[in-house]
Amino acid sequence: MTQGIQPEEPQLTEARRLPAQSRLQLTWSDGHVGAYDYTYLRGFCPCAGCQGHGGGPVQFKPPAADVQLQHIEVVGNYAISFLWSDGHATGIYRFGFLRELCPCRECCPEEELGDSK
Ligand SMILES: [Zn+2]
Ligand SMILES: [Zn+2]
Repeated sequence: MTQGIQPEEPQLTEARRLPAQSRLQLTWSDGHVGAYDYTYLRGFCPCAGCQGHGGGPVQFKPPAADVQLQHIEVVGNYAISFLWSDGHATGIYRFGFLRELCPCRECCPEEELGDSK
């Protein structure tokens, strides 16, 4: 284990919408795959409008209503942005940030938060 060493940000190789599950499936350059609920992703929108200007870590802000993901846009070579069904589109999600958010069992082995629906 090499804690403290920041590896290169993983590259996103595929972003696929799973409309039936209201999820976004992300595939990474190391072969890792994670599926993110739209509401989860929307709640972690890192834009200043959602997070304020505190500069701290991105907090989960539950969206007012369920959202659908309408469009995915790649930003440069390092991030993607989303157009949500509530019209919001200013969040830039860096690949490394998305990877940290990965809710899969492998990344979050201890599900202490429970599954709040
Ligand atoms: Zn936002
Ligand atoms: Zn994961």
